[in-house]
Amino acid sequence: MTASVSGAAYTAAFGQHRKNLLLLCLTIVTVLKTHAFLPLRTLGHANRGSSPSTAQVRPLVAPLQAAPAPSEEPPFWSLVFSDLFLLFDRTLDTVEDIGVHLRRATERDMDRRFRRDRLTTKAGTKKRVMILGTGWGGHAVTKVVDTGLYEVVIVSPRNFFLFTPMLAGSSVGTVDYRSIIEPIRAANPLADYYEAQALAIYPNNQTVRIRSEIPNEVGEYEDFLAPYDILVYGCGAQSGTFGTPGVREHAFFLKEISDAVKLRQALVDRFERANMPSVSMEEKKRILSFVVVGGGPTGVEFSGEFSDFLNRDLAKYYPALVDLVSFKIIQAGSRILPVFDAALQEQGLEVLKAQGIEVMLNRKVLKVEEKHIELDGGEILPYGLCVWAAGTAPRDITKSLIAAIPEQSASTAGQRGRLSVDRWLRVQGTNGSILALGDAVEVEGLPLPATGQVAAQHGAFLGRLLNREYDLSTSNPTFDLEKVNAFGKVANVLRLRGRLEAQAFSFLNLGLLAYVGQANALAQVQTGNLKFGEYSARAGNLLWRSVYLVKQVSTRNRVLVLNDWLRTRVFGRDISRF
Ligand SMILES: Cc1cc2nc3c(=O)[nH]c(=O)nc-3n(C[C@H](O)[C@H](O)[C@H](O)COP(=O)(O)OP(=O)(O)OC[C@H]3O[C@@H](n4cnc5c(N)ncnc54)[C@H](O)[C@@H]3O)c2cc1C
Repeated sequence: MTASVSGAAYTAAFGQHRKNLLLLCLTIVTVLKTHAFLPLRTLGHANRGSSPSTAQVRPLVAPLQAAPAPSEEPPFWSLVFSDLFLLFDRTLDTVEDIGVHLRRATERDMDRRFRRDRLTTKAGTKKRVMILGTGWGGHAVTKVVDTGLYEVVIVSPRNFFLFTPMLAGSSVGTVDYRSIIEPIRAANPLADYYEAQALAIYPNNQTVRIRSEIPNEVGEYEDFLAPYDILVYGCGAQSGTFGTPGVREHAFFLKEISDAVKLRQALVDRFERANMPSVSMEEKKRILSFVVVGGGPTGVEFSGEFSDFLNRDLAKYYPALVDLVSFKIIQAGSRILPVFDAALQEQGLEVLKAQGIEVMLNRKVLKVEEKHIELDGGEILPYGLCVWAAGTAPRDITKSLIAAIPEQSASTAGQRGRLSVDRWLRVQGTNGSILALGDAVEVEGLPLPATGQVAAQHGAFLGRLLNREYDLSTSNPTFDLEKVNAFGKVANVLRLRGRLEAQAFSFLNLGLLAYVGQANALAQVQTGNLKFGEYSARAGNLLWRSVYLVKQVSTRNRVLVLNDWLRTRVFGRDISRF
């Protein structure tokens, strides 16, 4: 009897298991198809870090509609239809992008022969589009913009695109730094790139003061003025400390490749130091106390990656030290991963706890000293290494641009240190001559989180807005039918459904992912309002890996990342320091 009951239960459980497996496979196929199908597919976190920002992932807003108040939420099916329209539009966009890429491939050799320094003077009759930044936003515009129509000049201190979702993995050696970066010149070989940073933007005379990142023969960094017709501002944001004393001096950040390099060195450094016979037991424990401030995706993912590093590699190399290690996450809010659904937050918390990570909720860091952290309530927390993953703050160049434009300094976004842009991503008060995107902006009536997913969609949108040559100075950008050929006319009738006014930016939410350690990940999978479910544990991990592999910006990156995962699995992570 018992046997038959358990046999039936087993069959039922097995049937359920098979159903779940089937659903998961279907989800993976659908997600990968959607992501492979959309240009610059992105899927990722909303609201990195545990920034005090209140931004939430909003439901999709139909194109050209004002953002509805929550009480006026349109019916589900109308949202689904607007998603389907959006997918249809993106299909046409993709076809158009392929045309631009093909043309670029044939023009490449000819253009190279005539290339010359074009930064301080303008080369010819084409309008100059100057792109500031090579992050998610800048990279996406660079990839899509048509160099046949514009003279494209990119200025950024970083000559590569960085795939930030894998930065935490690179900081412990799961993947190599070079596997998750791609030279910006590869994104569009016909655009000119200058390794320099913008110091000041003068919207009235449409010029940018630029400083070279490469010193001259006498070791000076030269400044020069460069003119533009259209400026695309994609300088992102920097790590924010919210004025907490001691953070910049003593904590590590996780924003750029250089941060990951420093962090990886410092992690091994702590173990080598604690291994010295001269160090007391109490001091060893302090040195091996790791603290992450911020329970958002960056903090949680770093914790998960560190836990893997500790359990699979450091435990093998430092068996006498591993029991002395402690790891804490300090989170100001009452939940970790605030942008995920409650069930996934709960599962994430359980997985972290199961790995021995202590999560301190509702705690605030008041000060970071060299060897201890001061918490609210007077608690003193000794530490050996602190990672600050508590959100972002505006860059100085963004603040100075806001100050230079009266409409910006008067706006609420401007007062928060973000550029206020309209639904076509034009910076208010610049008559359409400055477009801006990504973490540096707030779109009027469409609050969105500061993520790579949003920035990349902004970038692709702007690239196409430029390629279609809308008049950006009119209140609603309009399209000149006279300017395009027959194919362009058909595409535009289909895409704009009879309107000559440019469609405003719409965000297609592709869901959320976070790796939480020990081959567990959280995945909230959706395409706009169509939800494909929530996955955690191994299923989430499978999705996380599949999606991030597909999402890499080049085949080279895909091969390198896959190779790194295999190498880590077989040989473990490297702890050599040099
Ligand atoms: C560790 C980590 C993990 C993340 N994971 C995810 C994820 O999984 N999914 C997701 O959607 N988002 C993720 N994000 C968030 C995502 O990376 C950002 O939202 C995204 O990078 C914003 O893109 P952006 O183009 O606005 O700015 P950035 O990508 O920050 O790029 C800014 C660019 O501007 C350049 N720049 C800076 N100053 C100047 C200047 N003065 N002149 C010229 N150029 C300048 C910089 O060098 C850089 O090239 C993650 C972020 C981090 C830090």
